[in-house]
Amino acid sequence: MRSLLVRLLSSTSSGPRSSISRLSHILSIRQVQAPMAASEESLRKALADKQAAVDSRGNAVRALKAAKASKPEIDAAIDALNHLKLEKLSIEKELQAAVSGGNGSAVTREAFRQAVVNTLERRLFYIPSFKIYRGVAGLYDYGPPGCAVKANVLSFWRQHFVLEENMLEVDCPCVTPEVVLKASGHVDKFTDLMVKDLRTGTCYRADHLLKDFCNEKLQKDLTISAEKASEFKLVLATLDDLSAEELGAKIKEYGIVSPDTKNPLSDPYPFNLMFQTSIGPSGTIPGFMRPETAQGIFVNFKDLYYYNGNRLPFAAAQIGQAFRNEISPRQGLLRVREFTLAEIEHFVDPEDKSHPKFGEVSHLEFLMFPREQQMSGQSATKTCLGEAVAKGTVNNETLGYFIGRVYLFLTRLGIDKGRLRFRQHLANEMAHYAADCWDAEIECSYGWIECVGIADRSAYDLRAHTEKSGVALVAAEKFAQPREVEKLVITPIKKEIGLAFKGSQKMVVEALEAMTEEEAMKMKSSLESKGEDEFLVCTLGKTVTIKDGMVKISKEKKKEHQRVFTPSVIEPSFGIGRIIYCLYEHSFYKRPSKDGDEQLNVFSFPPLVAPIKCTVFPLIQKPEYEAVAQHISKLLTAAGVSHIIDMSGNTIGKRYARTDELGVPFAITADSQTDVTIRERDSKDQVRITISEVASIVKDLTEGQKTWADIWSAYPHHTSTNGEDNEE
Ligand code: AMP
Repeated sequence: MRSLLVRLLSSTSSGPRSSISRLSHILSIRQVQAPMAASEESLRKALADKQAAVDSRGNAVRALKAAKASKPEIDAAIDALNHLKLEKLSIEKELQAAVSGGNGSAVTREAFRQAVVNTLERRLFYIPSFKIYRGVAGLYDYGPPGCAVKANVLSFWRQHFVLEENMLEVDCPCVTPEVVLKASGHVDKFTDLMVKDLRTGTCYRADHLLKDFCNEKLQKDLTISAEKASEFKLVLATLDDLSAEELGAKIKEYGIVSPDTKNPLSDPYPFNLMFQTSIGPSGTIPGFMRPETAQGIFVNFKDLYYYNGNRLPFAAAQIGQAFRNEISPRQGLLRVREFTLAEIEHFVDPEDKSHPKFGEVSHLEFLMFPREQQMSGQSATKTCLGEAVAKGTVNNETLGYFIGRVYLFLTRLGIDKGRLRFRQHLANEMAHYAADCWDAEIECSYGWIECVGIADRSAYDLRAHTEKSGVALVAAEKFAQPREVEKLVITPIKKEIGLAFKGSQKMVVEALEAMTEEEAMKMKSSLESKGEDEFLVCTLGKTVTIKDGMVKISKEKKKEHQRVFTPSVIEPSFGIGRIIYCLYEHSFYKRPSKDGDEQLNVFSFPPLVAPIKCTVFPLIQKPEYEAVAQHISKLLTAAGVSHIIDMSGNTIGKRYARTDELGVPFAITADSQTDVTIRERDSKDQVRITISEVASIVKDLTEGQKTWADIWSAYPHHTSTNGEDNEE
């Protein structure tokens, strides 16, 4: 939803732009919002000075040689030159560290990602779709462990959100008629700016090319001046505000060409990201594959409100596929063309956004990155959620409540707290109707990635569908006693406005009707005293003159039995694939094999998300141990614990390594007919348990009823020595 939200805003100011682009720059904004760090700026200056000194000393050496100076004299000059070169090298190193932001070098990050991705692909967590036909960019299959992880994440999502809040879950079609997406604004505005290679026709996202160019210069070209570096940072910071023309001008100014062929590029133009289709054989009903699941909930609001006993607040939820025809998908699983979204639309009275359960999360402390901190170049800081809401940094309690719940959800899944932050949208990222927006961003090898968007979208969506469908998507608060109310009545005189503003009539009328009471009363007094008033119409992007006679503004007394209003909606929107990918990176580590000759891969998934909860092996291939293993497998099946049984003759060490690589948290080794050992994946510690207890213990461990520490203290155990498994 956020894409469009931004899209709508940007279209008012800078021509058609998709917000996906806006949002994908968050990564860079993290670095670039900051004015250039003092150390980086001074290092760039110091490097330029040192380079000048090296050049001048080099010239001096050459001059001495040309003048056939004495050997000691030349040697001394060369020594001084070498000394300067060493100093330059050391500044270069410092600068390199400063520009890579202390996150390790790009090379290290790339190598880490490669190790994770290789393991994921080899163990079939995911598979590039249609691989035997060379695949299609931006489409991926989940293989067996990937499916299991996804099912676990979604099951926990349902438990943590749907069950906890009694949300109304719906399941709507992916194929959506045009009218719905016309009303929501997607048909007109869900676009990214694209450029084409003028010779091959290959398409690229215009903002990505400019972003890559600036980042590359900043990170790899240490010779650029501090001034140039500031300019590139400014471009990155304002990338989202650039119109098609401005973007095109920058591409030309920097001489950016097609990255694959070095051919020249076209001017940028908007490309709608929705996959178009038609419904039925006649081809007369246009439709699209939905770009988000939210619209299915909005169009069902009336029925859901009724189902909920005509009471607010309530939330509806939907999990389903979303489709976006990304121009040039990259970043592996992070930017794909079909993905699973899990969205919540929490409908609330705009006059009361308190939340009865806010107290349950108000004590939480985590990294928050309000817009003021971003603008002044500071970093995200650990903040108490309750204080952020009390101070008004977070707009309201309900939004704060969901931020807290999202934090708990992600960290319980296994996302590292230190690499999770909540970043508030900058004013230019938010649509004019949005009250406040925060993104849960997770840091991985690609940088900070928006994984969940949490937005207070006010009444925008329900109003848009009310207008288009003619069905009032509203709620009512019944009064115990009728109330006398003074109502503001704004009546634009369409004839006069039409004559004055012609094609812009509709936008002027809408803006007048949307005035707050304060604005309307100010206009009324201006019209009465001066006969006219200057009035900003945001959708036109300019101020117009409203003359007396173009609008009637009055206050009328009325008796009311109820208050009818369009609810506000607070929307947490989860990109499930992105969360899962970040979880893979946060869980992955390597450790040496017993002999130290190999690095073994481990995914330290919490039992909750682990694709398989436990492995069962006979210690050696002996019929009596195999029978015990089969028996335990049956007990685990009956207890509903997913597991695999490995009867291969491989060494126990090899078998452990295979399951560690799948992130299986517990392994049971059958080595007697009465009891067995359970080994915990990360500590490699083992406890001895009788066969009759084993299934219930593993079940308790995987469902979070018991921790490994509980089991460890209650049963005979032994610790792995020197970090090695005893059986190996
Ligand atoms: P948006 O409606 O653009 O705010 O997207 C909602 C969520 O969907 C984001 O927070 C992302 O986690 C996820 N998302 C958006 N676009 C993509 C994509 N192309 N591939 C995977 N996930 C995406």
